[in-house]
Amino acid sequence: MDFDLTDEQRMLQETVRRFLRDKIAPLADAFDRKGPMTKQEAHGFLKDLKPFGYLGTLVSEEHGGCGLSHIDWAVLHEELRGVYAGLGGVVGITSSTSHGISGSGNEALIGRVLPGLLSGEKIACTAITEPNVGSDVSAIQTRAVLDGDHYVLNGTKTWISNGTIADYVAVVATSDPSKGAAGILQLLVERDVSPFEAREIKKLGVRSFPTAELVFEDCRVPKENLLLTPGKGFKKALRGLAFARCNAAIASVGIAQAAIDASVRYARERTQFGRPIAGFQLVQEMIADMVAETEAARLLTYRAFFVLDKGGAGRKEGSIAKAYATEAAVRVASKAVQIHGAYGLSEEYPVERYFRDARCYTIPDGTTEIQKLIIGREVLGSSAFV
Ligand SMILES: Cc1cc2nc3c(=O)[nH]c(=O)nc-3n(C[C@H](O)[C@H](O)[C@H](O)COP(=O)(O)OP(=O)(O)OC[C@H]3O[C@@H](n4cnc5c(N)ncnc54)[C@H](O)[C@@H]3O)c2cc1C
Repeated sequence: MDFDLTDEQRMLQETVRRFLRDKIAPLADAFDRKGPMTKQEAHGFLKDLKPFGYLGTLVSEEHGGCGLSHIDWAVLHEELRGVYAGLGGVVGITSSTSHGISGSGNEALIGRVLPGLLSGEKIACTAITEPNVGSDVSAIQTRAVLDGDHYVLNGTKTWISNGTIADYVAVVATSDPSKGAAGILQLLVERDVSPFEAREIKKLGVRSFPTAELVFEDCRVPKENLLLTPGKGFKKALRGLAFARCNAAIASVGIAQAAIDASVRYARERTQFGRPIAGFQLVQEMIADMVAETEAARLLTYRAFFVLDKGGAGRKEGSIAKAYATEAAVRVASKAVQIHGAYGLSEEYPVERYFRDARCYTIPDGTTEIQKLIIGREVLGSSAFV
């Protein structure tokens, strides 16, 4: 068993780490305080990050992407999420939606939309959740009814990351709610061709990462924009969720490591009782717990990405990584605040941002409880969902 990154991956890690430290880290706190990123700001960042492989990371070279592996993705995103998780979200959702389009779209659609996404000119998102449909994805109510050459889309999506700034939305809908999972399909909505309403939702953490409610009212989408057909749609959408879970896990690993780094720095500088607090055993205990949990989370997460690289579905591994890493990051970031004392609650130090950001990842892409039920189902062969 080899736990080491390859030489190329180490080089990628070092190069991107240097760039992020010098160019992106100094901007993160101020941008986070400002709230959701504008489209123009996002374009600027996407173009800066493109040379490192952040756009179209997993898209094949044949489709104009980088053709990198899931482990490369993990290396890129562990670094970015630790420096600026909100930006990592904008980039990650655009890049993962591009990957979905390249895997499921027809060649005409791919040729039309991918170049803009891979150059950083366009932004994408994926819309599953609805006001009354969260954990139970099979109960989707948004309707897509075929009418001649178009699907007519009606329904509301909510909590959609990048929703206010996205040019393309991969919408999961149902062709027939009475069919349950068998009726589910996915359509790519091009905002300039098929307009829809978007409303920003303010949230606790990853504040630069826009989150929106999207309203589709008799929204006509060309039938060529079908990504996933009814029947196959649900299974493939669930497979995409395993990758999304790994992504939430790697974001959490990045945030947790940043919280450790900040705490180690602070503990060495801050003196009480005439000595650095780093020397107190109870502070060391907190640091030791933070390091052990983060290393365990990192191993589980890289293993899950490794399974995806090997062509596995990663259902169990993705859920284990997501459940463990996202909850661990909340504990780690909370201890980082504790080590900073009152200063940990102030905007003078980045740990309050890490704490708020970490708290956001136990919910999307299936809550911790849902991950546990998936793990239980994989291990026991008996589903608690039905
Ligand atoms: C930051 C953020 C970004 C997001 N981005 C996107 C996005 O880009 N696209 C998108 O489609 N969605 C997105 N979501 C939505 C997200 O996927 C849902 O919030 C999530 O699936 C949970 O659904 P819910 O919030 O409706 O909670 P609910 O499903 O209503 O769950 C509420 C509570 O009940 C528990 N619960 C539910 N069912 C069970 C059960 N069977 N057994 C035990 N407990 C259960 C849950 O664990 C939770 O504690 C995002 C959410 C957040 C917070």
